[in-house]
Amino acid sequence: MAGSEAAWQAAHMGVDVVIHEMRPKVETFAHKTGNLGEMVCSNSFRSDDDEQNAVGLLHWEMRAANGLIMATADRHRLPAGGALAVDRDPFAETVTAQLTSHPRISVSYEEIDHLPDQGQWIFATGPLTSPALGQAIQAETGAEALAFFDAIAPIVYAESIDMDQAWLQSRYDKGETEEERTAYINCPMDRDRYEAFIDALLAADKTEFHEGETAGYFDGCLPIEVMAERGRETLRHGPMKPVGLTNPHQPEVKAHAVVQLRRDNALGTLYNIVGFQTKMKYGAQTDVFRMIPGLQDARFARLGGIHRNTFLNSPTLLDASMRLRSRPNIRFAGQITGVEGYVESAAMGLLAGRMAAAELLGQPLATPPNTTATGALITHISGGAEARTFQPMNVNFGLFPPVEGLRGGRRGRKDRYKAYTDRAKADWQAWLRQSVLDAA
Ligand SMILES: Cc1cc2nc3c(=O)[nH]c(=O)nc-3n(C[C@H](O)[C@H](O)[C@H](O)COP(=O)(O)OP(=O)(O)OC[C@H]3O[C@@H](n4cnc5c(N)ncnc54)[C@H](O)[C@@H]3O)c2cc1C
Repeated sequence: MAGSEAAWQAAHMGVDVVIHEMRPKVETFAHKTGNLGEMVCSNSFRSDDDEQNAVGLLHWEMRAANGLIMATADRHRLPAGGALAVDRDPFAETVTAQLTSHPRISVSYEEIDHLPDQGQWIFATGPLTSPALGQAIQAETGAEALAFFDAIAPIVYAESIDMDQAWLQSRYDKGETEEERTAYINCPMDRDRYEAFIDALLAADKTEFHEGETAGYFDGCLPIEVMAERGRETLRHGPMKPVGLTNPHQPEVKAHAVVQLRRDNALGTLYNIVGFQTKMKYGAQTDVFRMIPGLQDARFARLGGIHRNTFLNSPTLLDASMRLRSRPNIRFAGQITGVEGYVESAAMGLLAGRMAAAELLGQPLATPPNTTATGALITHISGGAEARTFQPMNVNFGLFPPVEGLRGGRRGRKDRYKAYTDRAKADWQAWLRQSVLDAA
């Protein structure tokens, strides 16, 4: 996704491009063909609503930038209500044909197993980056900075948490500053609620690992339902331990267990549920997590998951032009940068392709503002996100700076999202106009 879009954008800016693709010579467990732009699992680009949905807005931005992936998705669209579903085989065949027939693009079917010293490179090797390249990246970045699994705890919009039940406090009030001492949101459970929660966890529908996906997984962190299977008290002694915390709403009552949420972005609009990585199916997750006091109306910027996913600690490694800080001739794009999903990956390819081409042509591009969907994503991964707890992210309105003067809460949401998307469209068009070299 990202590599295809990057090549297309750079070529349309007048730069010659070589795509290196290891398939079909070297296979992954998920890809089935040698096509470029292959969708590995679902055939959905999710919501196409560009007024009320952040991923729909990302569609809009990519269409406005003459994106290959969006134009091809539109061409092979299948009926799916408000979502954009794509006929996957013709989609990938068209992407491949468009790229291989482009006069400025050539394709070399080979694995790249090192980070070259010369030339401008974009590494868009995805969640299943080949092991040899993974090792070369680790050698450059340090082992800690490249993850091979994501164990994603669910992320909640801060505004949807009921602070009449929850409260702000770090365990044992640890921290030098007031901000540090109140870095967590705590949700208390009494014994009955805890027992009901454990029952629900054990009964919930779970997804299975894909074949070939599990190696190394238990070195990471356990899903909460696996912890619950090991014993009903395990969670109460692990991520839900109730110690070092006092509930200001009921200071005399000692909670039986406490669920903690930690701030997930600099804006303070998103919180992740600490230690709650899970393989529960999405529907089950919302039902089970809304049993937590304070989260009964929670809205989720993303749900939890654990799967094979090679990704960089981008907040520490990449600059706002997507270059590796230690090797500026190398850019990263797509899912390996810590975005999640076909659309987000393609968007990061679009940006990397344009930025690399502009740099080669001697007219470097500014990063798009974080009021746009593309800009919000790049701002998040290149420094807006907490580096310590960095996990892959879908685009969502929690990544956008708030629009001032609008009503908060559930009732104002429609107006707020419309204001976000109107602002984004104006700012994206202004950013595109800066790209004077755009010949598309
Ligand atoms: C099992 C699985 C299921 C998924 N399901 C979904 C889903 O349903 N919906 C969704 O939105 N996202 C899904 N994803 C995430 C999905 O992979 C990304 O959304 C998207 O494909 C990422 O785009 P990308 O361009 O970053 O990587 P890819 O689309 O994976 O492209 C990377 C390319 O780099 C090639 N490559 C890797 N290493 C090398 C090398 N060393 N040299 C040369 N070429 C190399 C690969 O062969 C591949 O063609 C899933 C991921 C996995 C692993």
